[in-house]
Amino acid sequence: RMAISGANGSSNSAVRRKPPPAKRRETPPSSDEESWEQHSSEDEDQEAQDIVEIMNKLPKGVDPQSARQILNDIVVRGDEVHWEDIAGLEPAKKALKEAVVYPFLRPDLFSGLREPARGMLLFGPPGTGKTMLARAVATESKSTFFSVSASSLTSKWHGESEKLVRALFGLAKAMAPSIIFVDEIDSLLSARSSGSEHEASRRSKTEFLVQWSDLQRAAAGREQSARDKKEGDASRVLVLAATNMPWDIDEAARRRFVRRQYIPLPEHHVREQQLRTLLSHQHHELSAEDIQVLVHVTEGFSGSDITALAKDAAMGPLRNLGEALLHTPMDQIRPIKFQDFESSLYSIRPSVSSDGLRKYEDWAKEFGERG
Ligand code: ADP
Repeated sequence: RMAISGANGSSNSAVRRKPPPAKRRETPPSSDEESWEQHSSEDEDQEAQDIVEIMNKLPKGVDPQSARQILNDIVVRGDEVHWEDIAGLEPAKKALKEAVVYPFLRPDLFSGLREPARGMLLFGPPGTGKTMLARAVATESKSTFFSVSASSLTSKWHGESEKLVRALFGLAKAMAPSIIFVDEIDSLLSARSSGSEHEASRRSKTEFLVQWSDLQRAAAGREQSARDKKEGDASRVLVLAATNMPWDIDEAARRRFVRRQYIPLPEHHVREQQLRTLLSHQHHELSAEDIQVLVHVTEGFSGSDITALAKDAAMGPLRNLGEALLHTPMDQIRPIKFQDFESSLYSIRPSVSSDGLRKYEDWAKEFGERG
């Protein structure tokens, strides 16, 4: 799946201009259907116009049809993600601010020795907030966010995956500042696939590396020719990649990621913070001690395991009602109790084993940074 969303992920508009186009209205005005229709068709006109403008700015060699495909495969994102929505991970947030957000907002300060890296790898166990971080970076740096799963770039269904990769980078430049977020990057840059891999995935891997080098070159010599400028600002495009299997990335590709940020499982105080946030708007009767017990027993849980646990526990009061839930008034639903968490702990287990965890720690020690 490929997705593009504007800097502010809640926008319905595929194409975000600076300054951003007026937000689409969520609900039609009740009294005047016509003006709603008119409004929405104006919005569509604006969107069509935006697309034409971007298509005109595409660098040479980009296949317009592939570009349209990327522009059209849009997932309307939910709410924006901000730094404060992400529990813990302070070193990662700090590194991302320094490497991406500040340079995007103040390009004049970040040149020469302060030239930012063109790529950053986020690695660690699944469900630890890598995708959330990438989305927060896009929100906070006011960039166009291209979210691509690596498997969609190698899929045989698309057939012409090289063209897609080229279009992706071309659009990113035309719509700069941009962040290209590639999830499951291991499947695109894996060492394993180099011998007997499918032709399509080998070619898209090569094209990806070529395009990425071009960005790095453009950033190194910031003084671009007039022609380059017209085709977008390559110096404000960054590749952010995430993987749960960093050891699968081949060595040459690994070295291209100058920054490799470990996204570990949440520590004690982070689990506490997350649990408190999850419970904050809920009707519950957990005491401070109960929460401490939960923080203790969820050692080894990822952020997404903790979310799953809290969601399951929150179902407890409804489960006990059975069919009666269909006609029980809201104020008669009992609060969530510690016992609900106890029962959920039987079914919700950590996704990473301690052996699995050691593998991440070892890789981080050898190749990563903690902040
Ligand atoms: P990853 O990309 O590392 O696999 P995600 O960023 O997709 O993980 O996180 C999956 C879900 O887990 C999020 O939508 C969120 O509900 C929860 N989650 C994970 N890490 C955190 C965190 N640090 N703070 C808050 N929620 C988190």
